Amino acid sequence: MSFLMNTYARQPVAFARGEGVWLWDKAGRKYLDAVAGVAVNALGHAHPRLAQALCEQARTLIHTSNLYQIPKQEQLAERLCRLAGMDKAFICNSGAEANEAAIKLARLYGHGKGIEIPTIIVMEKSFHGRTMATLTATGNRKVQAGFEPLVKGFVRVPYNDVAAVAQIAEHNKSVVAVLVEPVQGEGGIQVPAPAYLQELRRLCDANGWLLMLDEIQTGIARTGSWFAFQQAGIVPDVMALAKGLGAGMPIGACLARGDAAETFKPGNHGSTFGGNPLACAAALETLAVVEEQDLCRHSAELGEFICSGVKAQLGGVAGVVEVRGAGLMIGIELDRPCAELVRRALEQGLLINVTADSVVRLLPPLVMNRDEATQLVEMLGKLIKEFLAG
Ligand SMILES: *Cc1c(COP(=O)(O)O)cnc(C)c1O
Repeated sequence: MSFLMNTYARQPVAFARGEGVWLWDKAGRKYLDAVAGVAVNALGHAHPRLAQALCEQARTLIHTSNLYQIPKQEQLAERLCRLAGMDKAFICNSGAEANEAAIKLARLYGHGKGIEIPTIIVMEKSFHGRTMATLTATGNRKVQAGFEPLVKGFVRVPYNDVAAVAQIAEHNKSVVAVLVEPVQGEGGIQVPAPAYLQELRRLCDANGWLLMLDEIQTGIARTGSWFAFQQAGIVPDVMALAKGLGAGMPIGACLARGDAAETFKPGNHGSTFGGNPLACAAALETLAVVEEQDLCRHSAELGEFICSGVKAQLGGVAGVVEVRGAGLMIGIELDRPCAELVRRALEQGLLINVTADSVVRLLPPLVMNRDEATQLVEMLGKLIKEFLAG
């Protein structure tokens, strides 16, 4: 029996160590990791540069609190803002916290404009986290059920549907922001039309709304650029980051630009742990490695390589609905529930994820090489063909 609360349906394996894209369990069995701790282990496992940066920082200073100045937090904020074309950052510890900051910011911003019930437009099939406000923003009843009353101030529209957003602009004068993932992750690797973000940007500008991007999964080179929005040629007003940012250290960030960046005043928001020297050292080193090794370009190229490899393996196979992706965020949609594939893959020494019931999701470490990607494609092709053959 376990003393842990029963919140996860875990696979029956515990890992003892890792190196790059490989993990070893307690019995010494080796696994190819195409999950990367759910898009977290951007640099794979036991990256020497990350380990070194963490050791050095741990020996020097781990935590002091936000009662005092934290130079590494300042450096990280500047680095992120320069990369993203944003003005200010708030550093926190997780994705849900980054979105909470964005939601609070939007409400404060709305009240500042005299809007009594500031309302945020959110999407169907979205995922934004497990806190009360972020699970309310999430477009999945399974995440919400049993936790009512939910938080007020959200309206929902279908994803990738600009007309639905435009329609809300017609009659709802309480809207202050749109919160959206550039590519939906938990929702099943849903890639919107190329002009979607541009059209949302235009609607936000026309109505004085904040465009708030949840780049928690898509950010930090995952989709082939530092941030997914850069491929759309727009800039958001607010952006949430987490997952790959610390390459395994818990850290999140909420970035903002223009008026939105000036919204919070002392006392409005905070976090005890947020942006401590250890977490910031991890994030700074992660960003340095991503830049020096050109992992944005690598993510785009390897993503293409894996996608076309999977298509070659599964082209014409009955039961495969679609293979799609953006960089190293890849989805293989089947015509039936396929959670079972996770266990079968595990038995063969491969870690994959299944989301939205019937979508195999691949989120490999950004440092995966061609050889490893070829192994991934071959193992996966065989597994899915066997599974679909029944
Ligand atoms: C994972 C995720 C979150 C939640 O992040 P946590 O760190 O688990 O709180 C929010 N939004 C998106 C898009 C995510 O992928």
